[in-house]
Amino acid sequence: MLPPAAASVTTTMRIVLLGAPGSGKGTQSQRLMQQEHIPQISTGDLLRAAVARGTELGRKAKEAMDGGRLVADELVLGLIRERLAEPDARRGFILDGFPRNLSQAQALARLLGTLRQPLDAVVQLEVEYGELVRRISGRRTCADCGRVFNLFTSAGQLNENAPCPRTGAPHRLIQRPDDNEATVTERLRVYDEQTRPLIEFYRARGLLRAINAEGEVDEVTRRLEQALHAIARPKAAKTARAATRKSRAPKPGGRRRGASRRAAKSASGMRRKPAATARAASKGKPVRRAPGGTRAGGRRSARRARR
Ligand code: ADP
Repeated sequence: MLPPAAASVTTTMRIVLLGAPGSGKGTQSQRLMQQEHIPQISTGDLLRAAVARGTELGRKAKEAMDGGRLVADELVLGLIRERLAEPDARRGFILDGFPRNLSQAQALARLLGTLRQPLDAVVQLEVEYGELVRRISGRRTCADCGRVFNLFTSAGQLNENAPCPRTGAPHRLIQRPDDNEATVTERLRVYDEQTRPLIEFYRARGLLRAINAEGEVDEVTRRLEQALHAIARPKAAKTARAATRKSRAPKPGGRRRGASRRAAKSASGMRRKPAATARAASKGKPVRRAPGGTRAGGRRSARRARR
C-alpha cells in the first residue's frame, strides 16, 4: 500500500504503462487503480468489449486482434477520445496498452494538450522475452469480472474462497483467443517494431521511468510505487510552495519584506515554466509538469527511479 502522504498527492496522476504483451501492465494497473482511485484505461479491454458486443468497430478490430496485429489508429484513437472524456478520467488515469506506436503517442500528446492534462510519467515494465512467453501461455482471465490470473506465477494464486465480485460465484477462468503460440510471436514482433520506439520518445521528453517487472507481483508493485513516488513528491512540494506564495502575498502598497530565499526561488520557477510550456506546446509535446517545473528535474527523478 502507498503511505497516506503519497496517496494523497497522486489523485491527479496521469500515467502510461509501457511494456510488451505479458509484461504485467494489466495486473499492475488493476492494483494501481484500486490504490489510487483512478481508472485503468486499457485499449485491449475496450476493443475486446466492442468485439463481444458485435459493434461495427468490434467487427473491424477483430481480424487484426486475432492475427496479433495492431488495430487501425483511427479506431483506437476514437475509443480513447471517448473514454478520456468520461468524468472519472478527470482525476487521472492509467493508460494500459496505449499508445502502441509513434503516431498514437503523438496523437495522445495533442489530445492531452487540448485537454490541458499532460502526462505525469510513463513507466516501462521490463521483462525478458522467455518470461513473456511463459506468462502469456499461463494467463487466464475471469470471463465475468475481467480479473487476470496466471497459472505459473504468483498472480495465479487463486483464493478459492474469494468469489468473483461480479457474480458471487467462483471465478470463471478462460484463455484469451490471442494468447496462443503463433499469435504471441507476432504480438511480440509487433511490440519490438512499433511500440519499443516509444521508450526513446518518452525518454526524450523526460517522462520515462523504467522498472524491472520480473519477480513476485507484489515486488513489482513496490517498484512501480517507488517510481511513481518520484513524481508524487515533487508534486507535493509544488503544492506546498504555491501555498507559501499565497500566504506571503504582499500587502497592498506595502514593501515585500522578509521574502525568503525559498520564495525567491519559487518565483523564478514561475517565470521559467510558461516558457517551457510554450516551447513544448509548439513542438506538440506533453509538458513535464512536476519536478520544480523544470524538465531537468524530470530527468533527475527518472534517473532516481531507474536506480
Ligand atoms: P497485450 O498487450 O497483452 O498484447 P492487449 O489486451 O493490450 O494485449 O491488446 C490485445 C490486442 O488488441 C492487441 O494485440 C491489438 O490487436 C489490439 N490493441 C490493443 N491496444 C491497441 C492499440 N493501442 N493500438 C492498436 N491495437 C491495439
